Amino acid sequence: MNIVLFGGPGAGKDSIAKFLAEDFGLVHVSSGDIFRKHIAEQTEIGKSVKAYIDQGNLVPDELTIAIVMDRLAQDDCANGFILDGFPRTVAQASAFLKQKPIDAIVHISVDEETVVARLSGRYKCTTCHEPHNKLWHKGIECSKCGGPLSQRDDDREEIVRKRFNDYKETETAMLDFYKSLLVKVLPVESKLVDPPKSMYSRFLDDHVKSLNYIAATSKAKSKDVKK
Ligand SMILES: [Zn+2]
Repeated sequence: MNIVLFGGPGAGKDSIAKFLAEDFGLVHVSSGDIFRKHIAEQTEIGKSVKAYIDQGNLVPDELTIAIVMDRLAQDDCANGFILDGFPRTVAQASAFLKQKPIDAIVHISVDEETVVARLSGRYKCTTCHEPHNKLWHKGIECSKCGGPLSQRDDDREEIVRKRFNDYKETETAMLDFYKSLLVKVLPVESKLVDPPKSMYSRFLDDHVKSLNYIAATSKAKSKDVKK
């Protein structure tokens, strides 16, 4: 079964993807991770991707689609995948769905202040890389090794608000587009005080029957989950 996760920055797509991947035997493909891998390895693609992200801008469609299709063509994706972070626009979705069949969209809704509180609070230790969140951790030093904490460039508040508003501008159009193609949309709401596990179990309560049905009828094989 092939699933696309859709939701604002900081909605918790990553957590939902990991649980779904585990329960349904799917591969979690994060476009952000693919980009970061190219950046870390300083490939030509990585260098151009980095320039866009550092400015808080979106990576252009042709580049993004080529990078994602390349990843989905690998053998481990043959039995189904959860795509996270892509497509972001109707143009991307339309080009993408011509190349890959998608069984369902998981739509995570979240409001702006929740996203700002979560992402602007996210810090990492520069020494041991332990993640921290100022929502819970009040100090300016790492709780594990005492090293200095730093933010990811695209987690600063003004950039977070820009990313959220970029997302929000296309959200309705995206959902309308998927519905026009009769792609099943499975919604779940992300709340500020909402550990990932509880969001996921709410999601399963609402949608496990649909997911099992989709898994059973999908061309890409995956496990049946009992709940
Ligand atoms: Zn540390």
